Amino acid sequence: MSRLLSLSFFVLGALAQGTSPSYDYIIAGAGPAGIIVAERLAEAGVSVLLLERGNASTYASGGRSLVPWNNTLTQYDVPGVRHYIKNSFADKSEYCTDTPGNAGCILGGGTMVNQLAYIPPQNVDFDDKWPVGWKWTDVASAAERVHSLNPGSTNPSADGAHYDQTSYNAFANFFSAQGYTSVDAISEPNSKHDVYSHAPYNVKNGLVAGPVMTYLPMAQAMSNFKLQLHTKVIRAVRNGSTVTGVEVEVDGQRQIISLNNGGRVILASGVFSTPRILFNSGIGPNEQLQIVAGSKATTNVTLPASSDWINLPVGQGIKDHIIVTLNFNTTESVDFLDTSYFIKPSSNITDPYSHGNGILTQGYQRFTFWTSNTTSDGSVRYFQGTCYASGQNYVSMKLYLTHGLTSSGALGITAAGNTVYTVDPYLNTAEDKYAIASFIDNLLVQTRKADSTLIYSGPSTDTGASLSKVYTGGSHWVATAKMGTDDGRVNNGTSVVDLNLKVYGTDNLFVVDASMHPDLPTGNLQATVQVAAEAAAVKILALPKQQSLSSSSSSSSSATSSISTSSSSTSQLSSVSTTSGMSTQLSSSASSTLVTLTTSASTSSTSSSTSSTSSTNTAQPTNPTCPKSDGTTFTAKSGAVFLVECYVDRVGHDIAYVDVPTNRIADCVNKCDALPGCVDISMSGTACYMKGVVGEKIVNSKYIRGARRIS
Ligand SMILES: Cc1cc2nc3c(=O)[nH]c(=O)nc-3n(C[C@H](O)[C@H](O)[C@H](O)COP(=O)(O)OP(=O)(O)OC[C@H]3O[C@@H](n4cnc5c(N)ncnc54)[C@H](O)[C@@H]3O)c2cc1C
Repeated sequence: MSRLLSLSFFVLGALAQGTSPSYDYIIAGAGPAGIIVAERLAEAGVSVLLLERGNASTYASGGRSLVPWNNTLTQYDVPGVRHYIKNSFADKSEYCTDTPGNAGCILGGGTMVNQLAYIPPQNVDFDDKWPVGWKWTDVASAAERVHSLNPGSTNPSADGAHYDQTSYNAFANFFSAQGYTSVDAISEPNSKHDVYSHAPYNVKNGLVAGPVMTYLPMAQAMSNFKLQLHTKVIRAVRNGSTVTGVEVEVDGQRQIISLNNGGRVILASGVFSTPRILFNSGIGPNEQLQIVAGSKATTNVTLPASSDWINLPVGQGIKDHIIVTLNFNTTESVDFLDTSYFIKPSSNITDPYSHGNGILTQGYQRFTFWTSNTTSDGSVRYFQGTCYASGQNYVSMKLYLTHGLTSSGALGITAAGNTVYTVDPYLNTAEDKYAIASFIDNLLVQTRKADSTLIYSGPSTDTGASLSKVYTGGSHWVATAKMGTDDGRVNNGTSVVDLNLKVYGTDNLFVVDASMHPDLPTGNLQATVQVAAEAAAVKILALPKQQSLSSSSSSSSSATSSISTSSSSTSQLSSVSTTSGMSTQLSSSASSTLVTLTTSASTSSTSSSTSSTSSTNTAQPTNPTCPKSDGTTFTAKSGAVFLVECYVDRVGHDIAYVDVPTNRIADCVNKCDALPGCVDISMSGTACYMKGVVGEKIVNSKYIRGARRIS
């Protein structure tokens, strides 16, 4: 119903004008980042087209690759079967075939092929290497919004019980003896040294969770949002620095989808495919663009004139976690349930599952631990162990080297248009090699002791150094279009996008997926991707509107306030019951939530047009007051224009504080105006906080008065 409505909105609009539909925002890729940013932008009242090259995935999203034992659940819905979809189900269309590592080419991207480990980031994951404006305090409210929709769970069964726990017990006993303590990985994300937890899963109401379940239905209830599947974005169409649309491939045919004047394209095609689109758009290292230029006969990609190429380090510095798998015999009894137990479950399994209970609500891993060490270069490196039974009285540990690792590589493109590693990103620094080898050596010492409950199963000649030569990637790649202030076009800069995620050298091309993450987190990536995408939406909405975008600049304020509104929809979403037709029920329940959100979305559109009118009001009060002046502009002494935002706090980024005894917004704004670098103020009483960055918008108490510089 909602999709029909949104389709007709665009088609009718286009027919009325006798043109193809065009959009304020076109987003390439409906993985977790793309879905979240699309939904948040649509809430602002702008028109949003979300393009996805793959199929629908979950039943509620239209997927129909059903599990054999239920006709309203797909292979992507059921947590307990996720580990087996690659090898045990007929439909394998979920994987990209043109990337160097496994990537999800399906609605939901990696969240539909991953192993459901859900590790909310710890503060240091952002505080270490993310730039100013993206530290933990800057993204904390984004994390709260993600958590309210996608909390994850260490005990996802509705009855609260943990199932199939013998391997958990074996690992917990061993690590307790090593001095590790038990935590809950979801509620205690900052406990990451010598701790263990029941495995945290991306599961809600017994189903695989994530943005396809939560954010996407909210977007689809809005008539200004459209999702288009089976549409592969080839390139951004550029006129110099301005992107005017995208070239896409649908059923083997190429077509151009246009942006409205002042519109923006956001790339969210994942860490391997966003770079491909950038290369195909004439953005990247010269040698990669030469490959694209030379392969036009094969790929039919039209690059801009070489004078318009933008030389940025796309693909340079790609990073991933590193995994070494270690196996142990156990002295205590550990059960092993084979594949058929999950993919051909008996009614003993499916009956409880129809009520949201039992083993099918869990992913395959049972136990997760974290610790860290400091290497001789003085840096802290984190380790994660993801543990499970792999035989009778036999267990396995995927040991990850995570946050703090320094190895990196490079990504390029082939003449066939596939992305490939040009430099392998794994274990290429001495300190990384030493860190993981020494961790394993310590573990071997412990698990070779006569009284150990875990007994290393390999030969006595194995060492940390020899074992760490056999590694795999963690599937948690980041940094192929890195965000930072060191513009990659000059002075050997390393960054492809600026702090608002805009590609350097362009006016209106953005990257929001894992490609822009400047660093690896301590745990698996998907929770961090969602947090960063939530924060990205706020940054993009806070940018001054370009001319002709359908919502006025002040729509960003209505947008951000509706972000907090929609977070409160959680209670409605989480009230979805898990019965035999879980997906079907989810879908209908989600739509009822969305009725509320549609109303709030249209309210925000209305309020944005209202604000638009008022923001063009040129009457200059000598002192703006709240709430009367909300959304109006105030011109400071230098001529700089500030937009008044009543009850809004742009958190963080304080560069100075001054007491303004007059208690006037005008005086605080003029103080900011006179302070180099100041672009935003928040007043609380007579306290005037001056800020160097227009930070994330928090709709605060009625005592806060804000104003941000818009020109
Ligand atoms: C095998 C595997 C296992 C993983 N296990 C875990 C785990 O257990 N826990 C965890 O936290 N993380 C895990 N991850 C990582 C996590 O899933 C990813 O980090 C996350 O999905 C990245 O999100 P993204 O939005 O950046 O990109 P993606 O998830 O890659 O989404 C990109 C989207 O863009 C689409 N797309 C690509 N190219 C185009 C194009 N040209 N035009 C239109 N659409 C396009 C894709 O189909 C996809 O839907 C795993 C990843 C993989 C691949």
